[in-house]
Amino acid sequence: MTTRQLLASQALLPQGWARDVLLQWDDGGRLVAVQADATAVAAGVPRAIGPVLPGMPNLHSHAFQRGFAGLTEYRSVAPGEDPADGDSFWSWRSLMYRFALRLSPDTLEAIATQLYIEMLRAGYTSVCEFHYVHHEADGKPYADAAEMSLRLLRAAQRVGIGMTLLPVLYQTAGFGGKTAQADQRRFLHDTDAMLSLLARLAPACAQAGARLGLAPHSLRAVPPQSLAHAVAGLHALDAGAPVHIHIAEQQREVDDCIAWSGTRPVAWLLDHAEVDARWCLVHATHMDWDERRRLAHSGAVAGICPTTEANLGDGVFDAAPYLQQGGAWGIGSDSHASVSVTEELRLFEYGQRLALQRRNVLASEAHAQVADRLWLDAVAGGARASGRAVGGLAVGQQADFLVLDGAHPALAGLDGPRALAVHVFGNHGHETLAEVHTAGRCRVQHGRHPLLAEAGPRFAAARASLLTD
Ligand SMILES: [Zn+2]
Repeated sequence: MTTRQLLASQALLPQGWARDVLLQWDDGGRLVAVQADATAVAAGVPRAIGPVLPGMPNLHSHAFQRGFAGLTEYRSVAPGEDPADGDSFWSWRSLMYRFALRLSPDTLEAIATQLYIEMLRAGYTSVCEFHYVHHEADGKPYADAAEMSLRLLRAAQRVGIGMTLLPVLYQTAGFGGKTAQADQRRFLHDTDAMLSLLARLAPACAQAGARLGLAPHSLRAVPPQSLAHAVAGLHALDAGAPVHIHIAEQQREVDDCIAWSGTRPVAWLLDHAEVDARWCLVHATHMDWDERRRLAHSGAVAGICPTTEANLGDGVFDAAPYLQQGGAWGIGSDSHASVSVTEELRLFEYGQRLALQRRNVLASEAHAQVADRLWLDAVAGGARASGRAVGGLAVGQQADFLVLDGAHPALAGLDGPRALAVHVFGNHGHETLAEVHTAGRCRVQHGRHPLLAEAGPRFAAARASLLTD
């Protein structure tokens, strides 16, 4: 087995910055050595052209939604809504449903391919795909019930991004078993059908190097019995498999959960499921202090999607007390209103600054540089949520890493911590990122990906076929 290697003058390791770091990985793309102060043993080893960072896991994606990103930024009111209340998440959702109803396997694959290239260019090296458009437009399963899931796997494999595939269990239109609506027909499974789908997908995921998990959509969409049965079925298949759920994105969701159960959604979940490090609670936006404390101590990951949460007017995650209690978190691009690691991290910090009227809220004693703290936390939490060995530059983890462009005027002459701070807060887009590697292979160099020329026109054609007037 050959070993591949790189020498980084500076690299961000899980414990912080180190100098002259020798990275070595095997043919399978696993790191077999990460050695600091290694110049003496690294003669002749290729040198990185700038500081090296761990690749960022993207813990929440609905790939098809990239097809209408930016196209819902106008005033609209959903049927049954009071125009005086203004636009809301729920009117956006009705537009999203119209788009989802037109999706085909080919258009899904075209959009996902382009999106996953964009993710790599932004420094996301793996993605958790929260996938819910399963069936034909009339609601019947495809001849192969896994058709849409397999298209996502294929897109990820072709592009070279790591994947955690999370088929979504969706059964009801609201708390208390409210019957699903006609426009939700492509999402629906009974619990046994979902477990069959998981069994069908397990070998395909293993072959593609992907991790399979499950996403009960939300407490709105999955009744308690189904939630328990589905999670038990998943863990019978794979005891460590990740479970992701949308939990408390909107105040209305919290109010409806209290009306149904007398309890807030995060508290309800913690009371009724064995929530541990296998779980990711996406949009744990609205928590009271006790929910925050309990979630932080559970080992579960809070899935934060700052640009989507801003775009949809969800609210601000109160991060400082959660992080002080050791809560795990990571970032997702979710609806893909933006596909940018740096914008998610920046907005996460800026949301706290705006709310608290302070600066550098998420810096810590261990990491005075906010960008260091944000980056390392988001990698660790994202890896945990992914259920894959993508937790940074350490032996046994995948060689998923980024090389900053040390020759770019914005970064030239800066040490690693300052270069990362400029990369995150200086807003140079992808320009300051020179290389993106997954499983030890360089996938993007100075923004170029080998499939870019082919994927762009296919994306545009797919979108044109899906847009309603
Ligand atoms: Zn979502």
